[in-house]
Amino acid sequence: MSAPPPMPAVPPVPVHGPHRADCPWCGSLRLRPRPARQDPRQKAAPARSVLDRCRDCGHAFRNPPLDPRPAPPAVRAGVRLRHALAARAMLRRCPDPESWLDVGTGDADFPRTARTYFPYTSFDGVDPTHRVLRARAAERVEEAYVGRLADPHIASRLRARYDVVSLFQHLERVPDPRAELRAALRALRPGGHLLLDIADPRRLCAPPPHPAGLRAELEAHGCAVLTGPRDTRLVARKEESAP
Ligand SMILES: [Zn+2]
Repeated sequence: MSAPPPMPAVPPVPVHGPHRADCPWCGSLRLRPRPARQDPRQKAAPARSVLDRCRDCGHAFRNPPLDPRPAPPAVRAGVRLRHALAARAMLRRCPDPESWLDVGTGDADFPRTARTYFPYTSFDGVDPTHRVLRARAAERVEEAYVGRLADPHIASRLRARYDVVSLFQHLERVPDPRAELRAALRALRPGGHLLLDIADPRRLCAPPPHPAGLRAELEAHGCAVLTGPRDTRLVARKEESAP
């Protein structure tokens, strides 16, 4: 009797870049580092990733980016709760989407949760790591794309294909969040919904660090923003007349 095939190996994740001096959203050099809460057990730890905020556009981002190792169990539980709340929020606005793309999906934890609320929806995922291929093998997503959504070979295939595009803690991890946001809008069908959550999963009750220019950016691209500035997540609808 032959041994069962081994689990597919996951190649090493890409190494993140160094600390950056400019805002990834607008290029401004006027950054305000905010001291992350000190853990007394980690006083001897080397320089850690802190939340920087741009004084010009208000975009907040981890600097340097958090490494993509799995988060501690308590953080993962908080992320699952956020996923469930976001799926329910979308259910009220778009109860029966046919197709949904989760951007930066990783192991497709969000599609797995959202399926509970959207059993007839087809979920696809895109992620810079090969974890998304493992997620497809586990049938958490139907189609898997390795790379950035803004990569031309991915963007051209996914143009105007989706009823919903979701991004969880993704824009603050990519080097060019504006390009990634525009690619997300291009992947939406006219009338489709964008779901954006850029809150820090480690600080569940903190106000969302939405860039001040985000709403204007969405409206300039023919979207109606359906949530208020204090909402913990942003939902926008791409208008039928959007370019
Ligand atoms: Zn900025």
